[in-house]
Amino acid sequence: MSKNNAVDLDFDKEHIWHPYTSMIDPLPVYPVSHTDAAHIYLETGEQLIDGMASWWSAIHGYNHPKLVKAITEQAQSMSHVMFGSITHAPAINLCKKLINITPEPLQKVFLADSGSVSVEVAIKMALQFWMSQGAQHKTKLMTARKGYHGDTFAAMSVCDPVNSMHSMYQGFLPEHIFVPAPASSFGGNINHDELVELENSFKLHHHEVAAFIIEPIVQNAGGMNFYHPAYLKELRILCDKYNVLLILDEIATGFGRTGKLFACEHANISPDILCIGKALTGGTMTLSATLTTNHVATEISKGNAGVLMHGPTFMGNPLACAVASASIDLLFENNWEAQVTRLFGAMQHLRLCEKLDAVENVRILGAIGVVEVKHTVNVAKIQRYFIDQGLWIRPFGKLIYIMPPYITSNQQIHALCNGIYTALEQQQY
Ligand SMILES: *Cc1c(COP(=O)(O)O)cnc(C)c1O
Repeated sequence: MSKNNAVDLDFDKEHIWHPYTSMIDPLPVYPVSHTDAAHIYLETGEQLIDGMASWWSAIHGYNHPKLVKAITEQAQSMSHVMFGSITHAPAINLCKKLINITPEPLQKVFLADSGSVSVEVAIKMALQFWMSQGAQHKTKLMTARKGYHGDTFAAMSVCDPVNSMHSMYQGFLPEHIFVPAPASSFGGNINHDELVELENSFKLHHHEVAAFIIEPIVQNAGGMNFYHPAYLKELRILCDKYNVLLILDEIATGFGRTGKLFACEHANISPDILCIGKALTGGTMTLSATLTTNHVATEISKGNAGVLMHGPTFMGNPLACAVASASIDLLFENNWEAQVTRLFGAMQHLRLCEKLDAVENVRILGAIGVVEVKHTVNVAKIQRYFIDQGLWIRPFGKLIYIMPPYITSNQQIHALCNGIYTALEQQQY
């Protein structure tokens, strides 16, 4: 294969959409030839240390032999079969594991194809739960600002209304109830006024609210806000008190990323409905799941419809289920808790950035490191700089952040942290 012409970048630019890009003036894209462990390799020869874990997903690094083996073996016996009136061991094995590792009340699993779809399913579960009980007026969702729950329509409608696509799709999106973003930070003091204000919103709206949806502890794409567990604890209490279901979106935070297997464990609470995705298959394939309690599932099933109204073509895809099971096994074999604790330690290196004028603050939790700067960064420019340093980091807005694979070495973490420091120090943004 000839090196430079292996990838037709002109064709890409002319014909292929990338996430959130223009077809007239797209950001540069970098052709990747392959990946391995903590590295991404470009067609142009660069070896990059990956700071993004492909958007929270590649927790074990790339091409892990056990994940490759799981996919290969499953592909040889059955890549896919419909899930209507059919079941199979890969799905059953995975759901057993999911019920085992998630909070105890969650006993029923819906396998879906992506994070956004799992959020759609969670919302349907909540709506159908109340419909079944004749509470037809409970049709709204309540959520906190700065959230991100995906790009499909129902998911979009609960994303931060300023940061996202609400104004663009006004009139088309259902209108929900937004409370302020959690303001008390993780590791700081809880502001009790914030909890009183939260209860006031429940008092005002609970009659029409089916569920409160939020990302526990870390609001990611909406601003990388690390908030106080007491907020989440209070939310659980208020949901029970005012007859509102609690949906936790752990699509980014699940599988150890925040230092707990699931972020809700920081507050010792469990949701009525849980969404997981991203790291579920160790970053190899798309798969998500929506889990709920026996109570919610039973009520849904007692309703007029008698069923949960969802069923994607690729539901329970055996390839994805097999590799997800292998990824969960690896999490424990590798002792994820020790891995994440080590990464947390190594990432303290980012604190060097605190002394730079350009920096607003530095936040580190679990295996997530965030440097918030005072002005929006020029993504194309800073990314070019990072690549020249042998790093893959993709900032957005004022946030330069890393959530690397758990297998990343301390030395590699230091290289990522140093790269961020020098980019800011040398004003490469
Ligand atoms: C990424 C993400 C989603 C959407 O998942 P997709 O697989 O991209 O559809 C939803 N919620 C959260 C918290 C996410 O991080």
